[in-house]
Amino acid sequence: MAAPASPTPSPSTPPPTPAIPEKALQELRAKATGQPVPRLIILSAPSGAGKDTVLQGLRGRNLALHVAVTCTTRPRRPVEVDGVDYLFVDRAAFDELRRRGELLEDAEYAGHCYGVPKQPLREALARGEDALLKIEVQGAAIVKEQFPQTVMIFLAPPDLAELDRRLRQRGRVDPTDLRRRLEAAERELAAIPQYDYLVVNHFNRVDAAVDQLTHIILAERCRTGVSPVRL
Ligand code: 5GP
Repeated sequence: MAAPASPTPSPSTPPPTPAIPEKALQELRAKATGQPVPRLIILSAPSGAGKDTVLQGLRGRNLALHVAVTCTTRPRRPVEVDGVDYLFVDRAAFDELRRRGELLEDAEYAGHCYGVPKQPLREALARGEDALLKIEVQGAAIVKEQFPQTVMIFLAPPDLAELDRRLRQRGRVDPTDLRRRLEAAERELAAIPQYDYLVVNHFNRVDAAVDQLTHIILAERCRTGVSPVRL
């Protein structure tokens, strides 16, 4: 049997357009104008995995990314700059920030306190920038629980032997600190399944890790259904 002929639209009537829900239009406008909802992005990596080198590479990619400066009670390493690598604070100042509820989360790592101050994050998100937090796995889990849309990325060395080698290269290595960091690394690697993405930082291939991180961030900016973070 022949199929019924479909009606021929008259040239003067435009074809009916399906109603587009406001939510869909909002998504489209945000992406079309280059203003996706800013996100929290966590980058966790065992100490010595090359996180700072990779982040330095990421800065060259013009991603309009705010890299949070966190505070710590651990002593400054000779190469580190206060206010750039960390805000180095004493225990009393750290406790005061925590008491005022101005730390997004805080954790102890290898005997020292670390925490993410909230105010610079609020300012970055208000500017429309994604905020990247370089934090270890306990802190990451707390942030993810509070803000489930946080993008979780783990940067790993190819193996523990490589990590040991990189930590020893730092110069003036305190053996107790080295042992603590290697033990912490084993615990951290166990948390890999809690992360959305795993990037391996191979020796002498930092650019490949930077490429992967860049692609992840750009892809996440195309994600739909993201709600704003309120700190
Ligand atoms: P390091 O002493 O080697 O600079 O850092 C030790 C670990 O603490 C790293 O895994 C680093 O990502 C993590 N870390 C740095 N700042 C924070 C923070 O504010 N909160 C948490 N939870 N971890 C942090």
